[in-house]
Amino acid sequence: FLSNELMVARRNDACPMGLPSKSGVYADRAEGAELWDVEGKRYIDFIAGIGVLNVGHRHPKVVQAIKDQVDKVIHTCFGVAQYEPYVALAERLNKLVSDGAGNGTAYKTMFMNTGSEATEHVCKFARRITGRPGLLAFEGAFHGRTLLATALTGKAVPYKVGFGPLPSDVYHAPYPDAYKGVSSDGALRCISHIFETSVRPEDMAAVIIEPVQGEGGFVPAPHDFLRGLKALCEKHGILFVADEVQTGFARTGRMFAIERSGVEPDFLVCAKSIAGGLPLSAVIGKAELFDQIQPGGMGSTYGGNPVACAAALAVLDVIEEEGLIERAEKIGAKVEARWRAIADGVGKGVFGDVRRVGAMCGVELVKDGDPDKPNTDAAAAIQTKAREMGLIFLTAGKKAQVIRTHVPLTIPDALLDEGLDIFEEATK
Ligand code: PMP
Repeated sequence: FLSNELMVARRNDACPMGLPSKSGVYADRAEGAELWDVEGKRYIDFIAGIGVLNVGHRHPKVVQAIKDQVDKVIHTCFGVAQYEPYVALAERLNKLVSDGAGNGTAYKTMFMNTGSEATEHVCKFARRITGRPGLLAFEGAFHGRTLLATALTGKAVPYKVGFGPLPSDVYHAPYPDAYKGVSSDGALRCISHIFETSVRPEDMAAVIIEPVQGEGGFVPAPHDFLRGLKALCEKHGILFVADEVQTGFARTGRMFAIERSGVEPDFLVCAKSIAGGLPLSAVIGKAELFDQIQPGGMGSTYGGNPVACAAALAVLDVIEEEGLIERAEKIGAKVEARWRAIADGVGKGVFGDVRRVGAMCGVELVKDGDPDKPNTDAAAAIQTKAREMGLIFLTAGKKAQVIRTHVPLTIPDALLDEGLDIFEEATK
């Protein structure tokens, strides 16, 4: 018999303490938006493996596609013997990004396994294509944990400190955040300032930005900022990279969040919800740029594994067939309404800023209604109480003061309501 307590003890002996595992919940099985631990306790899942399960746990179509593929071929390495699901998925993603940008531009796609590999590679590629070293990322950003991805990440503790030396020529600008008084104009002025004081724009290869910061606290970049940033990139020949690892695949009420701004990305990287729980990431880039990389200049033993590609093709079908892009907006509106009611009631002065793009919903907890006084303790207390009551979600933000939800977009209304009832109860 496995108990959560026994597992925590075994885990503490067997695995390093640096691994995040605050909850002590040991999953036994999961279905849709529900999860059961090894003691049989049921949880409603409002975090979905950190934004990996937009189509829910073990969607039957995804499970079937995985089984069918397993019965044919599990692995060859795309560089050894190629297979159709890789190419079919690339074709579909190219079209989605091109259609999203609405410009008819041709894109191409290569696959890796994780978000970190995708952000790492896209920056390597941008340096190769432009012949320039500089990379601009944003404060509060999270782009992963490999060395260059760590350098791109804009939060020192716990991600960067002590892990250096990190790759050079990486710069960080403030991310716009109206709640904290950072306007689009102000943020753009800071970039111009960086270009005067730290690096020449003609030495910059790429700008990488999350259209909505995920780990940074579910902060959306205003569209005028994204358009201003793109204009700056065009003026100086800098490549614009959208990191859609956390925002992709219908989460924000669009297939990709960048579509909302009308900005055409030179490259877009995605992972997480792409393959319904299997490890897969993609670098999607303008064909004329991507084809400048020399043969053999990219590759991966596992990247674009046949089973993961088959799962991803099924995920795209499910998003389309079940209207999950529209559904995201409805789920988000429901969560927002409940949170705003709490903000006006028991949460007064603590529920500081309720924000969302589609179903990417976050609420920033503060003290005395002051945006500059993050309330980490309140966020942790609600999270712990909710978990005891059978609802799981995570926090985000500089001080873990933002409660965030990645509710599976396939969740039935009754289950969503039940989860929101638990949430509300946990705030009392
Ligand atoms: N980019 C963003 C925006 C992310 O949210 C994450 C993961 N949280 C990553 C990159 C890194 O992805 P992975 O953990 O798959 O390496």
